[in-house]
Amino acid sequence: MTYDAIIIGGGLSGLSAAVELTARGKKILLLEQRPFLGGRAYSFVDETTGDVVDNGQHLLMGCYHATRRYLKLIGSDHFATLQPDLHIDFLHPQRGVASLSCPSLPSPLHVLMGLLRMQSLSLRDRLKLLRVGAAVLFHSSTAERRLQNMTVDKWLTSLGQTEFNKKYLWDIIAIGTLNDDPKTVSALLFARVLRAAFAGSREDSSLLVPRVGLSELFVDPAVRFLKSYGADIRTNCGVKTIKADGNTARGVQCEDDTTLTANAYISAVPYYALQPMLQNSGVQMFPQLPRFESSPIVTIHLWLDKPVMDQEFAALLDLRVQWVFNKSKMLARKASQNRQYLSLVISGAAEYVAMEKEQLVAMALEDLCSVFPLAASANVLHSLVVKEKRATFSPTPSVEPLRPLTRTALRNLFLTGDWTDTGLPATIEGAILSGRKAAELVSSYPSGTNS
Ligand SMILES: Cc1cc2nc3c(=O)[nH]c(=O)nc-3n(C[C@H](O)[C@H](O)[C@H](O)COP(=O)(O)OP(=O)(O)OC[C@H]3O[C@@H](n4cnc5c(N)ncnc54)[C@H](O)[C@@H]3O)c2cc1C
Repeated sequence: MTYDAIIIGGGLSGLSAAVELTARGKKILLLEQRPFLGGRAYSFVDETTGDVVDNGQHLLMGCYHATRRYLKLIGSDHFATLQPDLHIDFLHPQRGVASLSCPSLPSPLHVLMGLLRMQSLSLRDRLKLLRVGAAVLFHSSTAERRLQNMTVDKWLTSLGQTEFNKKYLWDIIAIGTLNDDPKTVSALLFARVLRAAFAGSREDSSLLVPRVGLSELFVDPAVRFLKSYGADIRTNCGVKTIKADGNTARGVQCEDDTTLTANAYISAVPYYALQPMLQNSGVQMFPQLPRFESSPIVTIHLWLDKPVMDQEFAALLDLRVQWVFNKSKMLARKASQNRQYLSLVISGAAEYVAMEKEQLVAMALEDLCSVFPLAASANVLHSLVVKEKRATFSPTPSVEPLRPLTRTALRNLFLTGDWTDTGLPATIEGAILSGRKAAELVSSYPSGTNS
């Protein structure tokens, strides 16, 4: 069998490349080292409760255009619903509830009004939020250059944001989207995220809420799509080496020592998995990889014996847990008087990742009780903790220029993945967008040019 492309890695970037190439009539082989596809975005059935559990709650946005196109192509876009207008409740143990709630006005007025209505901040502080709004709306190439070496925290300070504005709004958004401390992560990426969300159409800023598990949304329909168009998929098939000769990739050697060949190759593995595959290829590439570092996300899944929250999700302020998701409501499980399934998320979780499960569950419960009084009288029926130690790379200003392009020194090897030069933080949108870009380059790579 002669393949047009072999794709190494069955996460969302690899699946996106596979779907895109297959839709263009190319014959592909997808190789994944694990027994299942999805990479860092997958779900499984919890044996005790029978509920579908995500490895970590993923929040999507209306501005995830490549992601929405992918979902449409594989036929699962109806499994994620867009909020009519952006609405997020922020809960504070002493200060109560405040909402970022955008009215149905044309963009960007809706966001500016939403910011002005944030009751948790003084009027003076709210007016200062508009300076960030203006910087995002009038973002230019000069501003991009200025932000290159800046952290989020420094940028916000330069825009006159008070500690309240940072603590009660910007930081929680920055940690959620960039997955690390605002004092260390790139202002450039944060400005781009805000611009994508707030400077486009009104629906770009709304949250896109998954109604099924991550695998049902992103993976299973993609597999059905790929198989129906004759693509080949092999799981439990790790690639040991990408073989090269001069400036051309010649094949991949798998863990079982079989060698597979194609006209072109796409690496869709994380930064830490690329170097081992290249080591034996005899080609020196990507000396910058050791400078990348990962940042963890910890998710604490709790099943309580009674409902304690009404919202589908909420951001928590001045607590260790940053977000709580009411999975019973999001997954539209039949209302039950005697149970509620919640997922509590800590991003940028370096401080918490080494803690024991019991400690994390106790901490999550304590935070929950401080914002939902009913939780104090609830019993935990069951709990699960998922620690993703290498959830995303840490997007510091010094790492940003090191992110590699899709093309490589080998003319028929292309790179995808959330860590490549997508212009975005490590997100589903970046992963899917980069997969599509690699597919476009492979499609225009002439076949039969490697002999
Ligand atoms: C807990 C958590 C929460 C997150 N929350 C959000 C969110 O709210 N919003 C958002 O947009 N993003 C979020 N993300 C980020 C998002 O999940 C990732 O950006 C995206 O899934 C990365 O996809 P990828 O294909 O680039 O990499 P991966 O998913 O890592 O895929 C790479 C694949 O390659 C395979 N592989 C590695 N080496 C080999 C080899 N030698 N041979 C064969 N296969 C190999 C791996 O097993 C893996 O399946 C979150 C991530 C985590 C972990």
